[in-house]
Amino acid sequence: MNELDSESNGTGERDSQAVTALWHPQANMSKVKKSLTSWVAGDGAYIWDGEGNRLLDLPASLWYANVGHGRAEIADAVADQIRTLEAYNTYGAFASPPAEELALRLQGLLPMPDAKVFFGSGGSDAVETAGKLALRYWGAVGYPEKRVILSRENCYHGLHLFGTSVAGIEANRSGYGPLFTEVDLVATNEIDSLRAAIRRHGADRVAAFFCEPVVGGGGVIPPAPSYLIEAQEICRENDVLFVVDEVITGFGRTGEWFAAGRYGLEPDLMTMAKGITSGYLPLGATAIGRKVWEPFWEDDSQLLFRHGLTYSGHHTACRAALVNLDILERESLVERVRELEPVLWDTVRSVADHELVDDVRGGVGLLAGIDVASNEIAEAIVRHCYEEGMLTRLIGSGRTLHISPPFVIEAGEIEAFGEVLSRALDAVLEEVASS
Ligand code: PLP
Repeated sequence: MNELDSESNGTGERDSQAVTALWHPQANMSKVKKSLTSWVAGDGAYIWDGEGNRLLDLPASLWYANVGHGRAEIADAVADQIRTLEAYNTYGAFASPPAEELALRLQGLLPMPDAKVFFGSGGSDAVETAGKLALRYWGAVGYPEKRVILSRENCYHGLHLFGTSVAGIEANRSGYGPLFTEVDLVATNEIDSLRAAIRRHGADRVAAFFCEPVVGGGGVIPPAPSYLIEAQEICRENDVLFVVDEVITGFGRTGEWFAAGRYGLEPDLMTMAKGITSGYLPLGATAIGRKVWEPFWEDDSQLLFRHGLTYSGHHTACRAALVNLDILERESLVERVRELEPVLWDTVRSVADHELVDDVRGGVGLLAGIDVASNEIAEAIVRHCYEEGMLTRLIGSGRTLHISPPFVIEAGEIEAFGEVLSRALDAVLEEVASS
């Protein structure tokens, strides 16, 4: 159904070699140029493809459509802001009222007292800002030799140069030659591996430890019990900045405003994007704790963080974020995630014993991953689910089903997905047996 060829591409008649001029992200263009699925409309937890099929959006696009699609309230606020002033830069002393308001609002939500906020256009910008600031901070306070960045196997921190350099998914890092090289990976959930890495490099050389509280793109891997709090302690003991990447987990995805809140963390730096606007406009943010901001902000400081992006503090993107936060609060959507957590977890566990299922992970908010036996089987399951109106996709090594629905999904819709998935698994098992 979603494999469109030159005769039936849903977009009119076109040359099979020229279906698209768009270089798609993370795509094998030799295949994708002739095989497009267009997304043309959305409403709540549903999206429509170019052929008129309605699908339940189980990954919420890329983990971001948290308040659901088609919110007129955000559209109206955005239109109003564009008519008033679409954007103006915030370099130097120039201020964007929506960005000022959003930074203060975030300050009130973050589990980091007195945090300052630096805006960019997405998660990779936020990670880039955090990485550069970690290095700049240590240089500024007299420890320029603290440069090593530690991150975890399987982690995903976006694909700008810094995020690519610290990538824990090997395929995302390979093929470029040396990037930022002072990086070391530790085992995803083994605290001794972090301890050993700091010992190996020497605490006086380690600048920061980057971690996703729940590994997302690497396959939805929740933290081992007490891993994160112990990691934070180890970082504190060794004067290593503790950087929590909440690009996926922020803004309610784990049933708390931030996963840092759920796991009792107080990071030095925190990155955010996606759920900050639920994807209505591109926006990312880096929250900076007192330890890091103070030397730059104190009276008479001569220190400058010579970093900025054209759209840092973009008026309209920040306005979209403010209305998104209004919706999350007014509709108690973070609480709703907590209520739906056991429904999703029970649903996912209901297929755990199927012959084709290797592992199920989740139990944290509206996040789940299901590993199946092979990449081909995973692709077949995605196709079967699509035919029954359920959209999922593959992450990690390509055999993990990605489930992170919009917060407005109903419990019954999650359960219905469980039934469709179960039928898809049986159908694929039959296909495998008869092939
Ligand atoms: N960090 C994490 C944990 C992510 O999952 C992502 C994107 O999926 C990013 C950073 C990068 O965000 P973006 O794709 O908006 O640049």
